[in-house]
Amino acid sequence: MNFVIAATYDSYIDAHLAMGNLLSENINCWLKDENTIAIHPGLINAIGGIKLMVAEPQAERALEILRNTKRRYQEQNPCPNCGSINVEYISTPKKASNWLVTFVNVVRHGGAQMAVEKVYHCFDCGFEFEDAGSNTKT
Ligand SMILES: [Zn+2]
Repeated sequence: MNFVIAATYDSYIDAHLAMGNLLSENINCWLKDENTIAIHPGLINAIGGIKLMVAEPQAERALEILRNTKRRYQEQNPCPNCGSINVEYISTPKKASNWLVTFVNVVRHGGAQMAVEKVYHCFDCGFEFEDAGSNTKT
């Protein structure tokens, strides 16, 4: 059977969560390169992350499940600034004290060796935040 890449993950945990979602929907899937990452976590960027492979005939359904999962997650984590759910969890170069330091690091190291951190980025207002959950007041 042919398998296609449905998604790539730079986190072992995210990859397994996604695979678990698909398996519970009877999607035939597996993770490519997860063993490599497990043994050499530093290679995760070099090899392009862990690939979630799904059986080609089920790929469309798999993508829909992944989209729905992501959407549910976004709805639970709206932008704390404007309330938009047009929010993406992205990798960003670790915040430097000023933009010049960031720029110099990018030039010197091509960006690839920089430490990155994950933040939520709101595409509606540009606000960035680390974890929406911790901002909710009840
Ligand atoms: Zn926003």
